[in-house]
Formats: sequence, C-alpha cells, structure tokens
Amino acid sequence: MSFFNSLGRGFGRSSRKNKHATSSQQNYNRQPAAQPAGQSSMGFLYNSNNSRRQQTPVPQGPVPKPLFLSQPFLKTALVKGSFNTIVARPNRSIHRDLTEANEFFTYLNLFYGIILDHCTSRTCPSMSAGPGIDYTWLDSSKRQIKLPASTYIDYVLTWISNKLVDQSLFPTRAGVPFPPNFPATLQNIFKQMFRIFAHIYHSHFDMIYHLSLEAHWNSFFAHFISFSKEFELLDKRDTEPLRELIENFEAQGKI
Ligand code: ZN
Repeated sequence: MSFFNSLGRGFGRSSRKNKHATSSQQNYNRQPAAQPAGQSSMGFLYNSNNSRRQQTPVPQGPVPKPLFLSQPFLKTALVKGSFNTIVARPNRSIHRDLTEANEFFTYLNLFYGIILDHCTSRTCPSMSAGPGIDYTWLDSSKRQIKLPASTYIDYVLTWISNKLVDQSLFPTRAGVPFPPNFPATLQNIFKQMFRIFAHIYHSHFDMIYHLSLEAHWNSFFAHFISFSKEFELLDKRDTEPLRELIENFEAQGKI
C-alpha cells in the first residue's frame, strides 16, 4: 500500500464536507484572473485565527512558537522513518512519476477542503504564510494584487488543474515528448502548492489539530518535501516560510 493510500484512510474518520474534493484530473469551472505572482510582497498581514486557537492547548513559553512548531506536534507523523527511502527509488524520472506529482495536488485539495469553511475573507484577508510573508496575485495587467487567501487558493487550484490536464504541457500519450518548459512549469506548480501548505500551517494548523489530522498532514508535507528535493522542484527561497519545520524534520530523519 502506498503512502497516499494510508493518507486517504485518515479522511474517513474526521473530514467533513469537501467542496474541493477532486480527482487528480478534475477540471475547475472557475478560471483564474491571471496567474500567481512569483514573489511575495512583504506587508505584514499575518493572521493566526486567534479566536479559534484559544480553544487549543497552546504550549506556554517566553516566545510562543506557532502551534505546528511546538511539541508534540513537531514529532507527530503517520509514517515512521524517512520519506527519502520512499522517494529515492532507483531509476526514477519525473516524467515517469507524474502520477505521484498529481497525487500531491489531489490530497492538497482534500486537506484544503477540510479547512475551507474556516478560510474566509474575514479570517484570512491575504494569502499569508507567517509574519511578513504575504503572497500576491498577478492580474491580467501584470500588477500584483492582494487577494483573500481563499480566493488566491481557489485561483491557484484552478490554475494547477488546468495545467495538469493540458496535453501540450503534460502529454499522457505514448511517444509524445514533453515540452522544453516542462521542468519550469512543474517547479512553478510545486511552488504554488508549497504556498498552500505554508498558509495552512501558519493559519489553520489548529483546525488540522482539532480534526486529529496532524499526523497525516505532517507526513503528507514531509512526503511533498522529499519528493520536491528528489526532483529539485523547490528552491530555498520558496521554502523559507516553513524553513524551521523542514530543518526540524531533517534533524528527525523524516526527510
Ligand atoms: Zn486561510
């Protein structure tokens, strides 16, 4: 049984309605206005959903860390051992392993569907990923605009879904070559998926915790990072919002 199968079993016990539930090839009806911006703006728009977080037993300390960087959550995982051993199989090729890349999109949709009702324009007026990190969207005139996180994520999911079903970018027929821009496109997709991970960790980890999905979520993220490292899909600038978490997972031997 693959890790994704193990991950899927977790949703049966605690997920609720899921407006974004999808197969990896789902088409979205809604079209994004333009495209996600490559860089974050640095306005301070951190939103920690304090009203809900107060219900969670936040560990006390002189400088409170985000919940996901606190114990015991840092060590909570569905899978023991390192994801590198799962990901780093011999003779791997990103071209042959696109199904796995698609599954990250599918399960990220599922997780976002779980917290969807709690990610509103009121709770998350911007696409934040921690203090000082606020992603913007490029409109059709290439202007960076601030969007509520829910709108940004909706646009990103639509944008990714459209890319994944585009035969000129991701050919599925035998003998059809991948285009020269395939690596850059996939890197951009993973960068955008990382931003959704970062937003959920920084703004909605309390909800993940309340639904007892933190082990699934941490393992899913560790798998995502291991896969990204194996195929060099993310660079250090992309992963800065969760650098401390990634370094901790590395120190634990998870990735
Ligand atoms: Zn949100």
